[in-house]
Amino acid sequence: MSEPSIDWEAWTRQATEWLSDYIRVDTVNPPGNETRAVEWLGRILDAEGIPWETYTPNGDESRKTLVARLSGDGSRGKPLILLNHTDVVPFERQYWTVDPLGGEVRDGYIWGRGAQDMKGMGIMELITFLIHKREGLPLTRDLVFIAVADEEAGSEFGVEFLDRDHPELFDCEYVINEGGGGATEVLGKERNAFNIGVAEKGPLWLTLRAHGRPGHGSVPHDDNAADRLVRALQRIQDWDRPLKPSPEVLEYFRQLHDNGILDREPTPEVLAEIAEANPRMRSVQMNSISLTTLTAGVKHNVIPATAEATLDIRLIPGYDPDEFIREITEVIDDEKIEIERVFGSASPASPMDTELYGIMTREAKRLVEDAIILPGVSTGFTDSRVFRRRGITAYGFVPTLTAPEDQGRVHGNDERLSIENLRLGMQILHHTVRGICG
Ligand SMILES: [Zn+2]
Repeated sequence: MSEPSIDWEAWTRQATEWLSDYIRVDTVNPPGNETRAVEWLGRILDAEGIPWETYTPNGDESRKTLVARLSGDGSRGKPLILLNHTDVVPFERQYWTVDPLGGEVRDGYIWGRGAQDMKGMGIMELITFLIHKREGLPLTRDLVFIAVADEEAGSEFGVEFLDRDHPELFDCEYVINEGGGGATEVLGKERNAFNIGVAEKGPLWLTLRAHGRPGHGSVPHDDNAADRLVRALQRIQDWDRPLKPSPEVLEYFRQLHDNGILDREPTPEVLAEIAEANPRMRSVQMNSISLTTLTAGVKHNVIPATAEATLDIRLIPGYDPDEFIREITEVIDDEKIEIERVFGSASPASPMDTELYGIMTREAKRLVEDAIILPGVSTGFTDSRVFRRRGITAYGFVPTLTAPEDQGRVHGNDERLSIENLRLGMQILHHTVRGICG
């Protein structure tokens, strides 16, 4: 059946107004207070006559998650979830030129914390959801809108809580979430490119702890905890780990080559050169280790009894954390170094050959003809990991085209989203949802 024509001008005005207003809802995490966002979204859903429910984590009334559902006939399968997190990261007010929670609309942009990460995408998801209701668009599967708390601080009060206590919410075929974004430049070359996030590196946070014999600094001995820790860290730094580009990373570079962004064939040698020149491109191809904190000692002339270091390790998608811990234990080769696993999460990649992947590609190209569509492997992680580890296909797909000058603003200063991108994102997302649910 034919689709009704949609007044995107009017929806863009509405989306701009809503995003501006939504930014003013203070959900800085910590502490979160995501229930404010739930109430704000709930008022809009109420006005549209859409029922919604909330989920309260561990009895904390201030940190609710909202779920709303439009029922489909199920003829094409299980639900599509539009996932967005309602919390935002803190800001350093003194470095901003606008009020971070002001939602100012100026120079064609909506300014404020969360404009890109990810209240902007939340509004795009909300709008396609509302269009479906208002126009009575037929659905061949349920369309579910989930505005979840606590993504920015580890998801204990958000998707991890839902995973533990409400597994019924995970009965779905696909998830569209943050994670992939588009840009007007790829590897330094001007070109519109959308990324579909298919995989994320797995965080593995370890604490190394050395114990030794304390003593007077004037009499060095060979059981100094700080010395022991330094030796262990030196071995880790000297550890030559191979590049292991995954099929998704290889496909990314193959696409870049096919589209003339990368001049040479992406052979292992070329990939190694790229890794050498670009820290992010190196990280996506290997198990990375950043030494992030070092703590030891109490006084200039006292040999410390303990010393500690924290490592932020990111494993390539699907890599077994236990295997990595075995490897690093062997490299450290000192049983007096205790290795504590503080946090870890591993999730597989989502497939690149699904119907939804094809539809996202088609719709993005339909609206931006010259665009290339790339599979993305993220060095960071999002709530998609929880769905992927359950075997659900989750894609990062924020179909906007961000200019280089707007890229560093996520978690940074003067975060903003252009109205043009809000409009583009809404349109591509809506057509994608129609493609997979219509
Ligand atoms: Zn985010």
